[in-house]
Amino acid sequence: MERPKLDEIRGGRGVLVEVLRVGACGTDREINNGEYGVAPNGFEFLVLGHENFGRVVEVGQDVTELVPGNYVVATVRRPRGSSIYDKIGEQDFTTDDTYYERGISRLHGYMAEYYVEDADFLVKVPAAIAEVAVLLEPLSIVEKGLKQASDIQERLKIWHPKTASVLGVGNVGLLTVMALRMRGYQVHGFGLDRRDGFLNAELCEAIGATYDSTAEISIEKSAEKYGQFDLVFECTGYSPIIFDAMQALNENGILVLASVTGGERKTDQVPSDKINQMFVLGNRAMVGTVNANREHFEMGVKDLALCEAMHPGWLGRMLTHRVCGLENYADVFEILNSSAKHKAIKTFFEVKPIDGSTDGHA
Ligand code: BGC
Repeated sequence: MERPKLDEIRGGRGVLVEVLRVGACGTDREINNGEYGVAPNGFEFLVLGHENFGRVVEVGQDVTELVPGNYVVATVRRPRGSSIYDKIGEQDFTTDDTYYERGISRLHGYMAEYYVEDADFLVKVPAAIAEVAVLLEPLSIVEKGLKQASDIQERLKIWHPKTASVLGVGNVGLLTVMALRMRGYQVHGFGLDRRDGFLNAELCEAIGATYDSTAEISIEKSAEKYGQFDLVFECTGYSPIIFDAMQALNENGILVLASVTGGERKTDQVPSDKINQMFVLGNRAMVGTVNANREHFEMGVKDLALCEAMHPGWLGRMLTHRVCGLENYADVFEILNSSAKHKAIKTFFEVKPIDGSTDGHA
């Protein structure tokens, strides 16, 4: 790709960013396997990468909020659609089937040395959290989900949630455990793997949450053990579990669904009368959530900073696999395709070292 230029962005609002790190996730794996994603118009390929972190190199004359040297993370979805939500800047709620996401759908992503973007879509990151800021984009997904939950629960006038369970403790799940702990919840994490020797379980416990393996205790049984949950956040990628999650909710509780499950899985044996009764008589709620807007990235910056202050080094332990140089892309996909074998939580490209030195690629 050619080095992008500031004047590609109209109105003097362009920002040229040098990419330092790009995270890789299941979405990238699916796109790379040809199961998801769309190339931009006129291209037969898509530059991947939506979990980004970089440094400002140059700004247009009408950019007042950023200067060269600032660290930034760019949002993912752009308001290019025709829905009313795109028009009011809430493109994360677009009702269009055609959506525009950098590195995912119809727009090139950030796995490049440089990108240009409108300053409106860049979120400033303090230097103190530069080392972990590649986690901000996946965290923004969590922040939006939690914001949806608290917005919906305003229906209750008083809602003092105390317990939460997080189903799935991969990268997104661990960030959810963290964000909920930062809000003071008692948090119970669940995963398939057995606890002993499982780093993700250790991280749950290190931040004050519990961890249980669903190989040993079902979600339903765990609600007997811990009490029903005020909030359940689902991010396993295994859709049948949502029916168990619905039955583990407390009265007035809320279930947030955040997994993208592109398959064709079906399930029967759903106790539909019971679930319906629980939702009706207990005023329970369930909501799906996708993508994130600027405000959710800004919430995420605060949680990253708070977590670094309260649990120094915890976030850094999530960055398990660093691949230096974009040319080593094959290594990233090898890790993504067998992340259990590699015990990977977050795999990322280091495109350029954060401190600017050139010896970081040894
Ligand atoms: C990204 C979101 C995006 C979603 C659906 C996720 O991996 O983090 O920004 O909206 O995929 O494309």
